[in-house]
Amino acid sequence: MLIAEMAKAPRSRTGKRAQERQLRKLARLKQELAALEPGGSPDRPLVVEVSSVIEGRARATPCPLCAGSLRIEQHRAEVVDGKSLRQVEVTCLQCGIPRTLWFRIVGNARSS
Ligand SMILES: [Zn+2]
Repeated sequence: MLIAEMAKAPRSRTGKRAQERQLRKLARLKQELAALEPGGSPDRPLVVEVSSVIEGRARATPCPLCAGSLRIEQHRAEVVDGKSLRQVEVTCLQCGIPRTLWFRIVGNARSS
């Protein structure tokens, strides 16, 4: 009985470790995928007309890993390759994963 348990234990631990490894790999893949989505990188910013909607849009974006809502940590203006962008640093309220969202303000087309 005892021997059987001892023999079983390492296998189940290994199974758990492998599962955790799989989950971490999945989380990494999801993050890489999220970077390819609009707003995930300075090359693919989310386009907005006015800066006032940025934080609302950032908050409305679900976490790429768990679909939880995001908390805004920092919002700052950045110039990347001569383009003026807004960088919003967010953290998932559910899983705690930090993420950066990128926005570009194009101005109101109707005013021109
Ligand atoms: Zn999350």
